[in-house]
Amino acid sequence: MKVAVMAGDGIGPEIVAQAVKVLKALEPHGISMEMREGLVGAAAYDATGDPLPPESQELAAWCDAILFGSVGGFEYEHLGAKRPGQGLLRLRKDLELFANIRPASVFSELKDASPLRAEIIEGLDLVIVRELTGDLYFGQPRGICTKDNERVGYNTMVYAESEVERIAHVAFRTAMTRKRRVCSVDKANVLEAMQLWRETVEKVAREYPQVELTHMYVDAAAMMLVREPTRFDVMLTPNLFGDILSDVASMLSGSIGMIPSASIGGTKKGLYEPIHGSAPDIAGQNIANPVATILSAAMMLRLSLDCPQGAERIEKAVGAALAQGYRTADIARPGDKRVGTSEMGDAIAAAI
Ligand code: NAD
Repeated sequence: MKVAVMAGDGIGPEIVAQAVKVLKALEPHGISMEMREGLVGAAAYDATGDPLPPESQELAAWCDAILFGSVGGFEYEHLGAKRPGQGLLRLRKDLELFANIRPASVFSELKDASPLRAEIIEGLDLVIVRELTGDLYFGQPRGICTKDNERVGYNTMVYAESEVERIAHVAFRTAMTRKRRVCSVDKANVLEAMQLWRETVEKVAREYPQVELTHMYVDAAAMMLVREPTRFDVMLTPNLFGDILSDVASMLSGSIGMIPSASIGGTKKGLYEPIHGSAPDIAGQNIANPVATILSAAMMLRLSLDCPQGAERIEKAVGAALAQGYRTADIARPGDKRVGTSEMGDAIAAAI
């Protein structure tokens, strides 16, 4: 198993170090992998002038999966095509990673860490399948022009049938391994691109008669995620709506620092990263929560490396560390055993 490790910026190196520690703790259990490190984001820009230098592209081509931290820093935002985030976008594009899978569930030990009441999130277990390479983020034309003596900014929401079909298949296949329910999120009452989305999802659904398909407008979905999140199994979303809804879903679990994600395409190769960013406000202080990254490593074992037993070991170890009372600051309540990033990693590795 060949893994490219790209820690990136901000808290990236701290949290990825914990995931690597946990992966190494699997070795005595017969699960080992070759890990090679690569630069990405601002770290790569500072070293080479490019947020995704050729060596990192070669590493991405070499590996079976990428374990990714986070990229970005507000002082780099003016760099245009050299912005740290471009390194990640280029990686996703090079590897044609069009589907982002973000589970949201709640460890029973953390049901009081959510801002929602425990009875609302009890039993929460949903997956957001978000389209990742289309929509307003990539649609043409885009830009800022001058019209009638004022500046006008514009972007284009565009989806081709084939793009909707392939992400819908990912959602239906995911549902087949779960409770067999897909809720497709759109805004078909207002947007033509979303009407096409809905019609195409309905067409794909005919190939999965065992799966129940429902549709929800994004505004209603946002409300329902907070009012009754346990009603969802798989939520299928376009890029923009999924970006927003998945951050809402993350808070149901207690903290953005708890949610892993997988970006996959047509092959087994995938990119695994926490859903949060580089959190410059807490970088270098050993207080970031490494669990999202550690759970991303578990998803990597399951989805790219054909090692579900390794994934299960990691997930159980996270549960065990939480049951022993270990909490990073973002999920701690008064009286909890508050630990730093590396101590949390140690506790999970020890539980393995
Ligand atoms: P962020 O996700 O980095 O942080 C949002 C808030 O959550 C901050 O208060 C942060 O301290 C907290 N937080 C995030 N991760 C945490 C963790 N593991 N443990 C505890 N607290 C955590 O979002 P932001 O502040 O809007 O963005 C910071 C930078 O990250 C920007 O440059 C942005 O472009 C970049 N970004 C990168 C990615 C990515 O690499 N995929 C995703 C989102 C944002």
